[in-house]
Amino acid sequence: MAEIIDGRKIADEIKREAREESAQLKSQHGITPGLAFILVGENPASESYIRSKEKACADAGFYSITERMPAGISLSGLLAKIRQFNENPRIHGLLVQLPLPEHLDEEEVIEAIDPVKDVDGFHPYNVGRLVIGADTFKPCTPAGIQEMLVRSGNDPFGKHVVIVGRSNIVGKPIANILFQKQAGANAVVTIAHTGAKDLSSFTKSADILIAAIGKPRFISGSMLRPGVVVIDVGINRVADASAKNGYRIVGDVDFESASKIAKAITPVPGGVGLMTVAMLLKNTLKAARKTTTQV
Ligand code: NAP
Repeated sequence: MAEIIDGRKIADEIKREAREESAQLKSQHGITPGLAFILVGENPASESYIRSKEKACADAGFYSITERMPAGISLSGLLAKIRQFNENPRIHGLLVQLPLPEHLDEEEVIEAIDPVKDVDGFHPYNVGRLVIGADTFKPCTPAGIQEMLVRSGNDPFGKHVVIVGRSNIVGKPIANILFQKQAGANAVVTIAHTGAKDLSSFTKSADILIAAIGKPRFISGSMLRPGVVVIDVGINRVADASAKNGYRIVGDVDFESASKIAKAITPVPGGVGLMTVAMLLKNTLKAARKTTTQV
């Protein structure tokens, strides 16, 4: 049976480090890391993500503020609020919770965020810096995956990493992180997607397989090479009559069959999902630290 890579344990470790760094920043420079969230509309999943981010900020000793805006807000109204936070010196990181209602152009909204406060790492300026291997804000979920690999003793250095999925928030940035000639990276990276004619031929060649597909239990044990390390990014709801709310959360990997083949595997829940908020704290600290030269 595969060893379980425990997302809660690693995320708690990172949160504890963030709390310590935050206290240090306060005592040495009088700076309290500040993070602003903008939440448009009433998407229940987004509400719940924001609540967990607010709680993590409070636990780490950060200042945080959430601006809730109605679903019908105009683009100019939203951009004006972003400008306010861009100019607010108490705010080091600014995050607009996605997805946005359809009438709001996500690209335009992301590009309005000051890149030095873009702790999600989605601004094209920061995406470009990530691609060229420069210091930047790594997007939180992919950065969390890198931390999980390194901290669990599965350093991607020199390994063949196969990523299934090429979204801008997971697949592409994790590829851009892991192929850099840097510590905790330097992997040979393959990105597979719906264009792959024989997906198994790719997944079977992986030392590390990262599934970011959005399809419940899509990757089965028969698609894996014995000894592979499996990182399951998927968060999918499936009906479950025995569950209190009628559904449960499963990953993109069929845990039961995959865990018999893999050397190590992340569970869902309890895996990658817990890393995102921890890495958001790290990025906010980075943004806050950058201002210390200006005080
Ligand atoms: P997405 O934007 O829907 O992208 C899915 C990717 O999977 C696409 O590139 C797609 O290929 C590929 N794909 C779909 N079906 C495939 C197939 N049959 N064969 C090969 N490739 C296939 O999804 P996402 O935003 O990256 O999210 C992926 C999963 O991660 C979701 O379950 C999401 O909920 C979860 N997620 C978790 C976190 C977290 O843990 N914090 C954060 C973000 C996302 P094409 O490009 O060819 O269409």
